[in-house]
Amino acid sequence: MDHDEATQFAHKRKMEKQKDRVDAKIAEATEERGIVILITGNGKGKTTSAFGMIMRCLGYGHKVGLVQFIKGKQHSGEELFLKERHPDVTFYQMGTGFTWDTQDKAGDIAAAERTWVHAEAMLKDASLHLVVLDELTYMLGFKYLDDDMILDAIRNRPPEQTVVVTGRGGGSAIRELADTVADIESVKHAYDSGVKAREGIDF
Ligand code: ATP
Ligand code: MG
Repeated sequence: MDHDEATQFAHKRKMEKQKDRVDAKIAEATEERGIVILITGNGKGKTTSAFGMIMRCLGYGHKVGLVQFIKGKQHSGEELFLKERHPDVTFYQMGTGFTWDTQDKAGDIAAAERTWVHAEAMLKDASLHLVVLDELTYMLGFKYLDDDMILDAIRNRPPEQTVVVTGRGGGSAIRELADTVADIESVKHAYDSGVKAREGIDF
């Protein structure tokens, strides 16, 4: 066997082993149910990841519920796209902007409670394959909504429904409840070198 053949052979052996490991993992995962996914951390990509899953659902004709806590004061591309063009998405926005902008705690709590009513209804609606609770962690972190009320509603959702929660922080209870937790690290962000947020990329 010359050098090239030996390299090729070694590569094939390595890939076979890798395939066996992947196949074994796939064979082990047999349970069929909706899951809870938490996308958190300081890096960019939490909300956009949730919207990627919404797009996947729509591809299969599944219905989706989406509640955006905090956001909605300024327009976003996702809002413009989904609200106007997708009857399969039920969409509600809290619409108060960031809480450090409003500086009105009582007003924020009232808005959070109004918004939660919509989330709660979605978490009882078995026709929704996916419910996205975008930036929900801030409601937990700021104690605007009762933790147990939120966690119980997520726990008691229809078994086929998947819930995606996004946002930084939010405490340990939601991390424990979630089946999948991704903590997105910020290595760097263009904003820190003075680049303005861009339409279609950041909002
Ligand atoms: P995106 O909506 O782009 O997926 P995100 O949901 O991960 O971002 P948020 O905390 O919701 O992040 O903030 C949304 C906005 O903040 C976006 O404009 C995004 O580009 C920006 N952003 C995200 N991460 C960082 C960061 N580490 N530093 C500065 N700005 C950031
Ligand atoms: Mg976000």
